[in-house]
Amino acid sequence: MKFDVLTIFPEMFASLEHSILGRAQENNLIDINLINIRDFSKDKHKKVDDTPYGGGAGMVMKADVVYDSYCSIKNKDNAKVIYMSPQGNVLNQEKVEKLSKEKHLILLCGHYEGIDQRIINEIVDEEISIGDYVLTGGEIPAMVLIDSVCRYVEGVITKESIGEESFSNGLLEYPQYTRPETFKDQNVPEVLRSGNHQNIKKWRREQSLKNTYLKRPELLKKIDMSREEKEMLKKLSEVL
Ligand code: SAM
Repeated sequence: MKFDVLTIFPEMFASLEHSILGRAQENNLIDINLINIRDFSKDKHKKVDDTPYGGGAGMVMKADVVYDSYCSIKNKDNAKVIYMSPQGNVLNQEKVEKLSKEKHLILLCGHYEGIDQRIINEIVDEEISIGDYVLTGGEIPAMVLIDSVCRYVEGVITKESIGEESFSNGLLEYPQYTRPETFKDQNVPEVLRSGNHQNIKKWRREQSLKNTYLKRPELLKKIDMSREEKEMLKKLSEVL
């Protein structure tokens, strides 16, 4: 999968060279190409922004400079262009999975007050937000999108890991444990040490339901539950 990122701070993306995404790039599973918008400024001081028409605080990134940086991308006919924006559709796991089916994403990162509306009208297919708050720039949101989407790219992580994770089946994940068996008087639940895979599966499903009920109860509205499971959550609500 290919990502072209239009940014004025390409150096911020160095963190993607590490860990799982670093390995995925080394193994050519993903290709992250950073394009410095500033390189396309015709200004002798390499300015990429200017004051807003109509007045007001801050600076606005210039449409012509961003456009020239976009035009430098080769073979982009089938690419989807996403502007990272607090005004966009909020990213969630369903959206992440859908985006992972694309072969080529172009991510446009804004800074300062944002970007001249005309470039958004001209090249952007979708605006995506990472949450209802405002950050200083689109670089961190672009990294969030790349990281979450790449987890679905074949070979980046195991299929089992994706399937069991929070949100993948609409629920939050069950609690995880590793050695040592006892930590500060807390033991690893007996069932996980039993080797009985059926019981472990049942326990994990129950814990997943409980976790979701306690932390994100609204998610349960979309979940099909057995009578036994509904009963279990009813009992839980009675003791709380
Ligand atoms: N003036 C803009 C507004 O009120 O909608 C906010 C501009 S923000 C300070 C600068 C840049 O950060 C934006 O152009 C966008 O690329 C990025 N950004 C900020 N918050 C974001 C969020 N929640 N999700 C995605 N991108 C965001």
